[in-house]
This record gives sequence, structure tokens and C-alpha cells, in this order.
Amino acid sequence: MTPAGREELIALDRAHVWHPYGPMPGRSDPYLVESAAGVRLRLADGRELVDGMSSWWAAVHGYRHPVLDAALADQAGRMSHVMFGGLTHEPAITLARTLVEITPPGLEHVFLCDSGSIGVEVAIKMALQAQRALGRPGRQKLATWRGGYHGDTFHPMSVCDPEGGMHSLWTGVLPRQIFAGPPPAEFDQGYADSLKSLIAAYADDVAAVIIEPVVQGAGGMRFHHPEYLRVLREVTAEHGIFLIFDEIATGFGRTGRLFAAEHAGVSPDILCLGKALTGGYLTLAATLCTPEVAAAISAGEGGGLAHGPTFMGNPLACAVANASLGLLSGGGWADRVRMIEIGLKSGLEPLRGAPGVADVRVLGAIGVVQLDHDVDMPHATAAAVAEGVWLRPFRDLIYTMPPYVTDETDVARITAGIAAAVAAS
Ligand SMILES: *Cc1c(COP(=O)(O)O)cnc(C)c1O
Repeated sequence: MTPAGREELIALDRAHVWHPYGPMPGRSDPYLVESAAGVRLRLADGRELVDGMSSWWAAVHGYRHPVLDAALADQAGRMSHVMFGGLTHEPAITLARTLVEITPPGLEHVFLCDSGSIGVEVAIKMALQAQRALGRPGRQKLATWRGGYHGDTFHPMSVCDPEGGMHSLWTGVLPRQIFAGPPPAEFDQGYADSLKSLIAAYADDVAAVIIEPVVQGAGGMRFHHPEYLRVLREVTAEHGIFLIFDEIATGFGRTGRLFAAEHAGVSPDILCLGKALTGGYLTLAATLCTPEVAAAISAGEGGGLAHGPTFMGNPLACAVANASLGLLSGGGWADRVRMIEIGLKSGLEPLRGAPGVADVRVLGAIGVVQLDHDVDMPHATAAAVAEGVWLRPFRDLIYTMPPYVTDETDVARITAGIAAAVAAS
């Protein structure tokens, strides 16, 4: 693309296009991407960047994967979309069956929807409807721990971390939920006890506990001990409270297990999946539940789940999700994630103790450098780009979640990009 062509597009972008979490126009110009292949984004000016973000953690197989491209083209040749009310199709049926097979035991039913936030809305709706149907309509609250992120629509926002989630912006608007302190990295019996007693104290008000298992993503990239999942499973079962695991970020191998719940051997009542579900190709989410949850809702007032988005079960998205799950089913992803984990550890550990660095942590294909101050976003991003790496830091965090197909050399390039971003912050 000519420099004039690029400038014109960027000017139009500034004039008309809203970007995430920003003012209009944006604080700084976005980078113009022309194409992407493998783990590389190709900018319109010809530069190539190794993608350390997997496009917000979704593109686990990289870009233009021949198997995913073929699945999409093949499905487009049959039908791109049909409504899901009264109609069904093989891509959705196959996807539901596969998800039931590979997710933790007990989850038998699948609700397909448009995006992660909507998947969380559906999970919350399932819990509230099931509690009503079970004769406990007073149970309308959700309990969680601080430091979480569950999406940007209103009910999900109400269970995001109250500080990081900008609750102050929404005083009087968001439903008030019940928050425990953030889960510690190590197992702490005192914290476990306080979690149990908080949930027990509010048992008559709480429909469900919702958390991200093992890794809290956009709320602060923090890891916690899997034993807390067992604690939550026990206390929620004891009080007839549903347990919702939001695995939109952790699902499909990111933490080194196919699902983070496997670190604790715990099954939730309701499970949210999204992001990497379609290998980063199309927007799709799935909310799974147990037969108990489904039976309660189906026997309740209204006679069913009160949800049905226009693009529910979109065949293109389901077909590419099936192809992505097919790639994962070989199991080769686990070795690659382990290799990335080793590469991230060796590349990032030397930053521990560097000026401005508060913590370094790595789990599976997730590498995080936490600073003792907020990141200087434009400078940090530009420093990584100068190293040939795409990163999108936030708050005090410079991190990577690379595609699983990233090789050793490119993992080293990413950690060098992180080091450059740290130095520029
Ligand atoms: C990204 C994310 C969501 C929201 O998904 P969207 O597709 O962006 O709506 C919800 N929960 C978790 C844990 C996420 O990481």
C-alpha cells in the first residue's frame, strides 16, 4: 500500500472508527494490518510482527491455517447462516457433541451464542432461572472474588473486579454483587475459610458463584492455587448454589491443561467458553450446563431458557470451531504449550528484579511481567514493534499469550519484545 493510501485510511479511522476502551478519536493511531499468516501480522507498511497476543488470546493455531481456512470455505459453499429457531444443522450438532465430550464430566447441554460476554449473560440467566424454578426466587445475587473479568455487558461487568472494572463509573447502575478478596497464588487455609464463610453467610441471596478458574485474565493476569476450586465446589454444593466457571480465557489448552478446571479435577454446574473456540476466526461462545440445571429451567415458568440470539449457532463459526477442535484433538498442543512455557520462563525470569518490575509469572502459554507503575502504552507498544513483536499491555501489565504454533525462536523474540517494552515503560 502506498504511504498516501495508508495515511488516508488512518485519517478515516480517526474520523469514524471507534476502538476498544478509548475516546473518539483515539489517543494514538492504531497500526494498520494488511494480512496475517502463521504467527505474523503484516502491517500495511510492509513490517512484520510476531503476534504475542493471539488476537486477544483467540488465534491459538495462528493465522490463515490451511485446515481452518478450508473448513470455512467449505461451509460458506453450503450455507453461511440459517436461523436456529426450529432449524438445526450438522456443524452445531457436531460442535455440541464434541464440547460435551472434552469438557469436565457432568456438562451435557450446550447453548451457543455470539460472544464471551453474552455467554456469561446466558450462564447468569441459567443460574437465576434455575433458582427461581427450584422455588428460591430470592436468590438473585452473584458471588465472586476480586480481580476477575467476565465481559463488558452489564451483568458481567457487575462481577468484574470493582476497581479494575471501573465500577465507580457505574455507581447505582450495576447490580451489587458479593465479593471475596482476591485469591492468593498459594493455598492459604485462612483465605479458604473466609471464602466458605462469606458464601455461607449470603447463601439465601446467592444464585451462583462465578469465577475464572486458575487464571484471572483481563482483571489482572493473576494465577491462583487450584485447590480453591475444590473449596468453592464443596461450599456451593452444600448450599444449593450453582458454580459457574468462566473458561473463556483459559479454555482449550492455554494453561497447559485442556480446561483449567482439570488442574483441580472439579466440574462446575455451568461452563462458559469463547475466545479460542473458533481458533480466533469468528465470534462464537458456548455455555454448557448440567442436566440438573437444564431440567430445573425447563420445568420452570416460561418453560425454557429465555434467550435466543439472531446469529445463534452460526454455521460458519461452528464449522471453523469443529476444525479447530480437530486440530487440538491430536494432543500435540500440549507439548507446544509446554515448550512455550519453558521459553517464556527462560526469557522473562531475567527481568525479575529489573528496575520497575514488581513480578514475573508464567503458566502454560501465558507470560506476565507486572510493573510497579502503569505502563506507558504508546512507548511500550512502539518499543515492542521496533523488536518485531506485537503486544498490547494494560494497566501495570506487559504480557503475552502467543499462538501455540509459535516456535522457540519466535518465543525468544516475544520475550525480547517484552523486555524492550518494560525498558520503555
Ligand atoms: C474475554 C473474556 C470475556 C468476554 O468475552 P467477549 O467475547 O470479549 O465478550 C469474558 N470472560 C473472560 C474470562 C474473558 O477473558
